[in-house]
Amino acid sequence: MMLCDLVAVAFIVFVTVTAPGPVRSDWFRFATLAVCATVHLQLSRRQEERRRSRKRTVQIDLVGIWSFAGVVVLPIHLAMLAIVLSRTQRWFVARRPLYRYIFSTSSVLLAAVATHETVTAFGPRVWSQLDVTGSITAFGILMLAGLVYFASQAVVIGAGAILLSTTRPTLRGVLGTKEDNELEVLTIALGTVGAILLVNVPATLVIMVAVGVIANNIAEVRQLQVDVRTDSKTGLLNMRGWREVAEREMNRANRDDLPCALLMVDLDHFKNINDTWGHPAGDDVLEYVAHALRSATRPSDVIGRFGGEEFVLLLPDADTEEASAAGERIRQKISELHVPTTDKRGGPVAISERTTSIGVAVYPVHASALDSLLQKADAAVYEAKEGGRNQVRMATI
Ligand code: GH3
Ligand code: MG
Ligand code: MG
Repeated sequence: MMLCDLVAVAFIVFVTVTAPGPVRSDWFRFATLAVCATVHLQLSRRQEERRRSRKRTVQIDLVGIWSFAGVVVLPIHLAMLAIVLSRTQRWFVARRPLYRYIFSTSSVLLAAVATHETVTAFGPRVWSQLDVTGSITAFGILMLAGLVYFASQAVVIGAGAILLSTTRPTLRGVLGTKEDNELEVLTIALGTVGAILLVNVPATLVIMVAVGVIANNIAEVRQLQVDVRTDSKTGLLNMRGWREVAEREMNRANRDDLPCALLMVDLDHFKNINDTWGHPAGDDVLEYVAHALRSATRPSDVIGRFGGEEFVLLLPDADTEEASAAGERIRQKISELHVPTTDKRGGPVAISERTTSIGVAVYPVHASALDSLLQKADAAVYEAKEGGRNQVRMATI
């Protein structure tokens, strides 16, 4: 991260010294963008506070519309100044640790330099009275600029996510979710339109501010849609989300005449962890277990948090044999976990060698509907507990 910050600083100094000085129209455009960004920031302030307090992963900011427009239209030093100004304002809204703020600002600045160089490589920007070929060329250059901006940020932020994550980083943690990336594409798309308007009809940017604020609201609703189906502690599906997907998979299994397995995973003596080291330690173990479940299964398997320290998995296409093997793999993975956490006084401890009881029920062998499959797997967990814990039990027919 320091390296990224240093490279960004080096770039800032270099381009500020070498780039030609701004002319009057540049200052006018800079001021217009600064005003738009400030109004956008202030109008979406509350909502951005709410969004940020919920999210744990990659942050994407629709106020980037103005940054992108600046990168395309302004001389590079003014574009970077605009970015730093709007990010500083944003920092006062959503106070994140300073090192993170500096890192993400550096990543935007690096993307800005890369994008600006791409655009200027194709000569001056004239976006009025274009003929058909001219407009297609301009469109191509802008698309390329958007691509460079998107890709260079993804690379830097992805690398940051790998460096920052405490457990092994997931692909989703590195690349961001589908929603994150769509938001970034929207930001760049609106930024492109903003750039064209700024050069040709600056007053119409009022419309873009309104669109930006509304887009923020839509982004929040989309985030809520995801949150409703997600368990906030582990990032797995909650029962509502799990049931939706599991029902769909069951229907598919039924239609295609394929088997499908349900695993109920219950951690052994979990209460002891809370009693000995405190609830935050218990929560850390749950997070690591969620990670172990993901890494012991296929991406198409449906993993949910049933509640408390119980997890439920639906494995499409898995028959009795494969389901037993998967259960054994999960039991093994969890027993190998090594969870660095804190004790009740906040001192460091490591929790390891945890055991798990797992119940397995398979469609259509044990039951033909999701609820009865759940019941069968749950009864099998109970059998596993009775049988001395730390084992995988198949449901009885
Ligand atoms: P068994 O081997 O029989 O499963 O014993 P157990 O202690 O795992 O099961 P029990 O049902 O007695 O206790 C479950 C514990 O899980 C009790 C509860 O405090 C704890 N728990 C449930 N949800 C959470 C959570 O979100 N965080 C933490 N830290 N603990 C939780
Ligand atoms: Mg339990
Ligand atoms: Mg338990």
